[in-house]
This record gives sequence, C-alpha cells and structure tokens, in this order.
Amino acid sequence: MVKICCIGAGYVGGPTMAVIAVKCPSIEVAVVDISVSRIQAWNSDQLPIYEPGLDEVVKKCRGTNLFFSTDVERHVAEADIVFVSVNTPTKTRGLGAGKAADLTYWESAARMIADVSKSDKIVVEKSTVPVKTAEAIERILTHNSKGIKYQILSNPEFLAEGTAIQDLFNPDRVLIGGRETADGKKAVDALKSVYAHWVPEDRILCTNLWSAELSKLAANAFLAQRISSVNAMSALCEATGADVAQVAHAVGTDSRIGPKFLKASVGFGGSCFQKDILNLVYICECNGLAEVAGYWRQVIKVNDYQKSRFVNRVVSSMFNTVAGKKVAILGFAFKKDTGDTRETAAIDVCKGLIGDKAHLSIFDPQVGEAQIQKDLALNKFEWDHPAHLQPAAAGAAKQVSVVRDAYEAAKGAHAVCVMTEWEEFKGLDYGRIYEGMQKPAFVFDGRNVVDVEKLREIGFIVYSIGKPLDP
Ligand code: NAD
Repeated sequence: MVKICCIGAGYVGGPTMAVIAVKCPSIEVAVVDISVSRIQAWNSDQLPIYEPGLDEVVKKCRGTNLFFSTDVERHVAEADIVFVSVNTPTKTRGLGAGKAADLTYWESAARMIADVSKSDKIVVEKSTVPVKTAEAIERILTHNSKGIKYQILSNPEFLAEGTAIQDLFNPDRVLIGGRETADGKKAVDALKSVYAHWVPEDRILCTNLWSAELSKLAANAFLAQRISSVNAMSALCEATGADVAQVAHAVGTDSRIGPKFLKASVGFGGSCFQKDILNLVYICECNGLAEVAGYWRQVIKVNDYQKSRFVNRVVSSMFNTVAGKKVAILGFAFKKDTGDTRETAAIDVCKGLIGDKAHLSIFDPQVGEAQIQKDLALNKFEWDHPAHLQPAAAGAAKQVSVVRDAYEAAKGAHAVCVMTEWEEFKGLDYGRIYEGMQKPAFVFDGRNVVDVEKLREIGFIVYSIGKPLDP
C-alpha cells in the first residue's frame, strides 16, 4: 500500500489529503501537525476549519485510510510520498521583511524529513513557495541524506477557500513540476498516478520545477490584479455616474477577457493574494526587475486604497464623524463560506472606523468573538498602509462587541456595513433592521449584495461600491 504523509494540517493540508484519501482507497494518508489542538479538532466532530462538504469527506475515510496525528516523525519516516503544506507567511523581520516569504516552517520541516527518513522519498511542495525553493530543499536533503534518495516535486495548490472540496474534486488543472531526469520523471509519474484516480489526464499539467513554483505566484497575482483592476474602475464609476456592474459586464463579455473575477468590492483578503504578490515583488527586486516589481506592487496599493476609500466613504457620508456612533459590521470572514479571517478587508475597515471612534457591533456566521478580538488587537507589520489603517489604539476592544445575529448588530446603529457576501445577508428582513436603527439609517455595502432599490424604498441611504451614492 502506498503511504502518503502530509506535514501541515491546515486549510490546504486537511482538505487536499481528505480528498486524496476518499478518491484513493488503496492509499494510506496521514496528515500530521505540530499543533496538538488542530489535530484534536481534526479527530473530533468539530473540524478546525469550516468548508462546505468537508465534514462528509472526512467522515467517510477518517480511521480507514485517513489519519490525523501529531506523531510527525513516525508518519514521515513511513511515507513514500511526503507533502509539505506548512504555512509560508510574509517575513516580518530582517532581510526582505514585509515582502519575502518566511520559510522558517518550511525549512524545519525539510530538516526533519532528512533526520527521520530511512527510505527513499518523493517530497512534494504543496505550500506556496518562492521560485527556486526546490533547489534549497534539495540541498538540505542531499547534504543530510545518509544514502537516501529524494526527488523534489512542486505541486502547488489552486483551491479557493469556501469551495475547496468542489475545487479539489473537479480541479481546472493539477500542476506537477519535476526534474527532467529519469528519476525526476519517475517521481512525476508516481504523483500523477495518485491524481489519475479522479482527475482526467488532460488536466494534469507537467512542467519543470521552476515553472510550477512560479505559476502559483503568477496565478494569484493575475487573480488579484483583476480584482484591483475592477476596483480601480469602481472609483472612476463613482466619480462619473457609471455603474461598475454594467461596465464589468460589458468588459467581461469580451471572450478574450471573460466574466469571472470582475466583481467590485471593498477589496480582496485571504492569506494568499497579498502574501504571494509581496513575494513576487521581492523576487523581481532580487532579480533586478524594479519596473516589474512596481507593476505588481500597484495591485496591493489599489487594494489598500479601496479599503481606505470605503472607510472614508462611511465617515464622510455620516456627516464627517462616526465618533460615538454605533456601526454594525455584517461579516468578518474574508469571503463567504469560510471562517478564515486572515487579511480580511473587515480588519482594516474596522480599524479605520475604530480609529475614528466609532462603536462597532460585529456579526459573522462563522467567526467567533475570540478571533475577532485577536484580529483587531493584532499589531502586525503593515506594509505601506495609509496612516489611518494602522493597528487600533489600546482600549479599542471596549469599542467593539461581537454579537450573535445581524438584527442584534444593527439594533440602535447609525449604519450597517456589509463586509462579507454571506448568502444570509441578502435575505435579511431589512424593514425590521431599519425600524431598529437611528435615522437617517445608512447601509454601506462592501460586497454589492443587497437589493439597493428595495432598501432605498424602505428608507435607507445606500452606498454600493462603484455606484453613485443615493441618486
Ligand atoms: P495553515 O496555517 O492553515 O496550515 C499550516 C499548518 O502547518 C499549521 O497547522 C501549522 O501548525 C503546521 N506546521 C507548521 N510547521 C510545521 C512543522 N514543522 N511540522 C508540522 N506541522 C507544521 O496554512 P494553509 O492556509 O493551509 O496554507 C499552507 C500553504 O498552502 C501556504 O504556503 C499557503 O500559501 C498555501 N496555499 C494556501 C491556500 C489557502 O486557501 N489557504 C491555497 C493555496 C495554497
């Protein structure tokens, strides 16, 4: 029986391995992590991440051919194929701080593989890493090899949180990069045969190592760039009376452009887009490509601008002050169908409003109070952000309450800000919400999900991204 071990039981490691296990009953899959609480959660009825469809997949094979364990070394030693799916955040200190990927976790996983291995292994980069990382890993492994042979493959993950299971069952493509030697090709074939259990052959793309590594950064940069492009257009729409939804539709029906990822919003979030673009910027700079670096950096600048524009719009619409006013924040996750708040636009918007002394009442169906308080108190490195988006001042926690539903959040509020496109926010009883609010009652829709006409009929003053404020 082929044995797979995945180091890192996070948003990527957990779902990807659960899908491999369910699609390949003949393969034994162990997902290991140094976090005891995460592994306990994977072995319980309360999985550590919320992802539609994940529970069923895990329940089908957990304890049969899918195992979650903290016994990292034993499972790595026994595996034929080791996936490395650890976090690769942005460095906060030292050389490349604020841009380069922090490969601390990655390197420690590689050294551990070298320490515990007693048989030949295929090591698969699942984490998103800078191009040429495979070369560094090869060095670590071969210099500590004790006669063991390693083949390094790059197999970046393209799933999107919120649709991870769907994406994994039916991927647009699976990308495998390997060395172009006989052993390298054998390793690529071995990994291909795993995916071939359910992915059609023409969707499994094989490239050289560096192309695979760079393709992941490129794909995220292209996706984020589309969002920043439409968001940049939304600012112009607001200034001119054009409607960004109509412009996006007109642009997206050009078959060369296509309709996806052209929805204007308060800005992209999530753990990947910003981090991966910063990483790309750093790699460009290291290769002497300042102009190219500047091009990609602009994607993040526009995203920051979009968030600060939103805050400014809220404050300026409310007679230039939100001091002491209650503002309901509907949604905190960076997108619907996930409880993930990493880099969510809601953090910057909330910090901006707190900075202007607003009182926030926050509701998200999947994000709890502890996470929100942690996020808003977070004093993390912020690259090139406008001053008013700096971390909230001490005492901010008192200004913030986290409540159990949207109606409670909006009760007595002067304004509602929709920060996440949860389906349930579309179907709220806005008449009831309006009754309980201070007047004039404002809705600032950061995701363009509410029915603007209906809300205006009720009496709300409505701001949607890329549309004129109350005509
Ligand atoms: P995550 O933080 O959810 O999970 C990483 C896990 O690795 C953590 O549970 C951590 O405890 C564990 N870990 C770290 N060092 C370890 C070690 N030495 N041994 C064992 N476990 C260790 O991160 P994630 O969101 O799953 O992302 C993982 C990688 O995949 C990142 O490089 C990310 O950029 C990439 N990626 C993420 C997504 C996404 O949507 N989240 C999509 C595609 C790619």
